[in-house]
Amino acid sequence: MDFDALDLDAITHVFFTGAGLSAESGLPTFRGVGGLWRNYPAQQLADIRFWRQNAALVHEFYDMRRETLANVAPNAAHRAIAALGTRALNLTQNVDNLLEQAGCPNVIHLHGRLWQMHCTSCGHRWDFGLGPWRAEDCCPACGAREAVKPGVVMFNETAPEYAKLSVLSRLKPHHTFAVIGTSGAVIDVNALARACTAGRKVLNNAEASDYVEEDLFDEVYYAPTTEVITQVIGPAAAG
Ligand code: NAD
Repeated sequence: MDFDALDLDAITHVFFTGAGLSAESGLPTFRGVGGLWRNYPAQQLADIRFWRQNAALVHEFYDMRRETLANVAPNAAHRAIAALGTRALNLTQNVDNLLEQAGCPNVIHLHGRLWQMHCTSCGHRWDFGLGPWRAEDCCPACGAREAVKPGVVMFNETAPEYAKLSVLSRLKPHHTFAVIGTSGAVIDVNALARACTAGRKVLNNAEASDYVEEDLFDEVYYAPTTEVITQVIGPAAAG
């Protein structure tokens, strides 16, 4: 999508989503039950400093995550958001492609994409698909092998797409800002909610989070997203 050409007046809903949105599709959250892979915490495996020392192991972890993604499908919440078409803007922390698979046209991936690779030598990013990274694979632009990492933003890396979160300060009374499925531990949800000075603000998580001030929201739903997505979207869903 061309973010700079986005007509904010034509948008009715801005979604800020996290791992909880895809949990009911079968993609585990990081902080959910069993956040270990081969005895490593998922957060460590997703840290750029760990990748520099253990690239092969980290590639295997992302091979596993891509394989998991290849075997799941969008859930009712992804589909309900997609039904809004171009009226929805998705700012997602998720690295999966379930919003796109559901048919969402406007998706900003704040933390990159699981199906892409990134060459840290020449900067090239490309669609790699959901298969495993093999020893013979290399950057199609420069031929580098060891410099290629999964196309996701790791912990302790910069996240250039965060600049787009500033759109929230431009929301108007007709907008709904909906936060779904995020603990707020990585991106400060409270700061985002404070940045929205107009419109309806909705929070939906499975349970309360120490990082999220629910008083900042007009409506709060602690329930599986697929069960409350109609209320989260609200009356403007029709049409
Ligand atoms: P998190 O694991 O910190 O928090 C998950 C949140 O989702 C919790 O607040 C929980 O209450 C809520 N939740 C769980 N199941 C839910 C459901 N069925 N309905 C509604 N809410 C539900 O996730 P986060 O805040 O997104 O931060 C973790 C980081 O991990 C992000 O940076 C993200 O990039 C990455 N991540 C992405 C995926 C993915 O792409 N699907 C999966 C795991 C982790």
